Amino acid sequence: MTDTCRAGAPAHAPEPLRVAVLGCSGSIGTQTLDVCRRHADRLRVVALSVSSSTDALVSAAREFSAAHVAVADPAHAQDPVLGELPAGCRLASGAQAVTELATLPDVDVVVNALVGFAGIHAGYAALRAGKRLAYANKESIVCGGDLMMPLARPGALLPVDSEHSAIFQCLVGERPEDVARIWLTCSGGPFYGRTRAELERVTAAEALAHPTWTMGAKITIDCATLMNKGLEVIEAHHLFAQPVDAIRVLVHRQSKIHSMVEFVDGVVKAQLGSSDMRAPIQYALSYPERWEATASRVDWCAEDPFTFGEADEEAFGCLALAREAGRAGGTLPCAMNAANEIANERFREGLCAFPDIERVVERVMRQTPVEAVESVEQLDEVDARARELARTALSEVCS
Ligand code: MG
Repeated sequence: MTDTCRAGAPAHAPEPLRVAVLGCSGSIGTQTLDVCRRHADRLRVVALSVSSSTDALVSAAREFSAAHVAVADPAHAQDPVLGELPAGCRLASGAQAVTELATLPDVDVVVNALVGFAGIHAGYAALRAGKRLAYANKESIVCGGDLMMPLARPGALLPVDSEHSAIFQCLVGERPEDVARIWLTCSGGPFYGRTRAELERVTAAEALAHPTWTMGAKITIDCATLMNKGLEVIEAHHLFAQPVDAIRVLVHRQSKIHSMVEFVDGVVKAQLGSSDMRAPIQYALSYPERWEATASRVDWCAEDPFTFGEADEEAFGCLALAREAGRAGGTLPCAMNAANEIANERFREGLCAFPDIERVVERVMRQTPVEAVESVEQLDEVDARARELARTALSEVCS
């Protein structure tokens, strides 16, 4: 027996996966780089993009010796710090340059950590180019699931969203037809238990104090309105080919159960772990393998008791609206999402009240004809029109 075939000897090391991290300076992006740092023998960062945070871009490009970088916002394409990019690193700017990173021949896996509908172009391009897509940009599936899902080869579309990663993990080895329903867990957000009247007076600063997860500003507000959970219902509907009404939202304040799948025989599988996004990010990169944890571990003996409850769709109407959009399908989720992106931003700027987000989303949905989704260009038009309608609705609602 030679050394190389002795039992227990490590198999020869596979080539590292070559990773593009789109949106590398945000919450998911920086945590993705953490995972890449921890598993430098398995993951090689070859491409990076930012919207405008060029300092963070240069620092990451130097650390990981990235070969390609892109700055989405042309206003930052000439920032002096970019002169400090490593030798040989290719710089491009504009939204199209970010999309092109997703299709580079020397990229195996694209981590799409872009925020909002705009992220659909890179995700769509990555799937069309046959890349593995690890996506945190749920809006691209919510709006473009009808286009994206048919392009996704088995094992090539991996969710980074913690709930969807959990459901994905519960389904490994299972048959889709054996699923009875999905229990999508929800922390309840910072305003859990408040009434509609109380929600009229809450501020953006209060909404940004999420009880269990640390995330970017846009998604944190979405968690407060429960629109995030509504988007996640539609995301799960596409990703796991389940009817919207087979996806139940379950308030679980401790955020340790990341979601559950109930099968036809009544058996329920759940995935548990710390409230640390590095776990689902890592799984989206390691699948079908499991690698040593980057995320913190949980001491289950020291945990508080788990609680479960129903989401209050009366007080948090965005969830009910999203369910409605998910049932209607077609272009309605895209219009709903656009209205939400505009109203979410206005609320963060202190320019509208918290319940105005729901009011604006509802108005835009009522004004949007539902059409079948046919192309990304069509979705761009639906998105742009819904943004205009949302601005008009905001001026009426807030005056
Ligand atoms: Mg989530």
